[in-house]
Amino acid sequence: MTTPTNADDTPITFGPVPSRRLGRSLGINNIPPKYCSYSCVYCQVGPTEHREIEPRIFYDPETIRRAVMRHIEAAQRTGEPINYLTFVPDGEPTLDAGLAETIDLLRPLGIKIAVISNASLVWRDDVRVALGKADWVSLKVDTVDEHRWRQINGPHPDLRLNDILRGIEQFASLHQGELATETMLVANINDGADSVTAVAEFLGRVKPARAYVAIPTRPPAEPATRAPDEETVHRAYQIVKSKVENVEYLIGYEGDAFAFTGDVRQDLLSITAVHPMPEQAVSALLQKAQAEWSVVNRLVAEGKIKQVDFASKRFYVRRFPRPS
Ligand code: SF4
Repeated sequence: MTTPTNADDTPITFGPVPSRRLGRSLGINNIPPKYCSYSCVYCQVGPTEHREIEPRIFYDPETIRRAVMRHIEAAQRTGEPINYLTFVPDGEPTLDAGLAETIDLLRPLGIKIAVISNASLVWRDDVRVALGKADWVSLKVDTVDEHRWRQINGPHPDLRLNDILRGIEQFASLHQGELATETMLVANINDGADSVTAVAEFLGRVKPARAYVAIPTRPPAEPATRAPDEETVHRAYQIVKSKVENVEYLIGYEGDAFAFTGDVRQDLLSITAVHPMPEQAVSALLQKAQAEWSVVNRLVAEGKIKQVDFASKRFYVRRFPRPS
């Protein structure tokens, strides 16, 4: 499908792609690659070429609206459903000074609107207003520690972490839509219990509808970047879970995560891609499916799931993909 392109010939819209968080999501690339306020070590778009913090117009909001309209019409012709219009560019979407206006222009289309932001500009009133127009907003909270923040997110030198954290709390207290947070864990930077505990305490105050614990699963900007092992990610999950009611993994299994098939093997893979499963829950599922424990043993032997002990309990977790 041909879609209008920006100056770098990158399509302004793409998809719809399956998203575990948003169903079928039509992506909106409202920022050219790669303008961002951060240069994260794990960025899958590569190192940031233009590190900026002053929002400006990259594309006229009407140009974006027309691109979205054309894409929706094409998707309708091929019978592709769209659950969300999602601003998820190759950079930071709130650098777009026209974001609020664009959301207003898209609103009459009657499709829910999502923005996936790194939260770095949420201390600005105009950015909070723009994000507040979306139905679903995801904000990045990898760390609440200044040193780790510089290490992992490579922020623009004029940004202040305390301003950002305050802005997140302020936004959370007023946002009418759904707020999610995303915490990307990187081995030996922010995966320690102390770092995750501090993040969890902050998230406990923010009270997101859902907190996602993510790991890098695609080739990162900084090649030395590593995902933590399963035990470490599981510990992080449990720590965040002690402060936030809904916590989920985001570990690169977008495709089949909704699939509850009645096939117990597939169900175990789908569920463990989202949550660690306590041994008791695995037993209950096997019983319901009238299946034997050998199904689990086989998945462990194949390296698809892993047994992890935590706080005197046994859990089963999905083995995580690693960036190649
Ligand atoms: S905030 Fe997002 S786009 Fe920007 S560098 Fe980090 S991962 Fe890449």
